Amino acid sequence: MTDPGPPRAFAAERVLVVAPHPDDESLGCGGAIASVAAGGRQTHTIFVTDGGASHPGSATWSRERLAAQREVEASNALECLGAADHPRSFLRLRDADMPAEGTALWREAESKVVEIVSDFRPDLVLLPWRRDPHRDHRDGWRLVTAALAGQRPLQLEYAIWLDELGAAGDRPRSGEMVECRLDITPYQAAKRSAVAAHISQTTNLIADDPQGFRLTAATIERLTGTEEIYWQPCGR
Ligand SMILES: [Zn+2]
Repeated sequence: MTDPGPPRAFAAERVLVVAPHPDDESLGCGGAIASVAAGGRQTHTIFVTDGGASHPGSATWSRERLAAQREVEASNALECLGAADHPRSFLRLRDADMPAEGTALWREAESKVVEIVSDFRPDLVLLPWRRDPHRDHRDGWRLVTAALAGQRPLQLEYAIWLDELGAAGDRPRSGEMVECRLDITPYQAAKRSAVAAHISQTTNLIADDPQGFRLTAATIERLTGTEEIYWQPCGR
């Protein structure tokens, strides 16, 4: 069933976007970010991990160098989406090695999110899908959901790796979520530019790690159509 609510949801004044890695904001929510920015409204993107694990075999790109590069790419992507002057926060947790829930590092990150939420006061939060096959995406959902405890901004979730890597049990269950589709036709080109701005993930920038991660053309094609799909928890 398709909720007639997306236009209402995306008319939000302050949209908090949660990106487990730099590139998820563009792949998952680039159209929404561009639409909100074009409407003169605000986004705040939280980049949860530093993205420093995509090329572990490179001799020339250390984790630190790569993480710094990925912050530049994230800012370039937000510029492509018309959100150059919108706030963003880098939590800089270790990519593919997030701290365990309840540890001091986890609690510190949760406190930062609590502070961001309290300053920004979002009326819509775009979260990674709670059962995305990528662990950082699930952990990002858990971290921000914990930080939002007791608050009731509208929450929508977006999946990145579910269609390619997910098991049947990872998909929304009957009665769990309502699907919301956002037509991003006017922003599709901006979204594609934003994805392409992540040059460490989309080009041969890092040439000395043949095993390094690269977004495939098929993944990019799948996630940069004319619609973005979100799920809203039923009863919210
Ligand atoms: Zn990701």
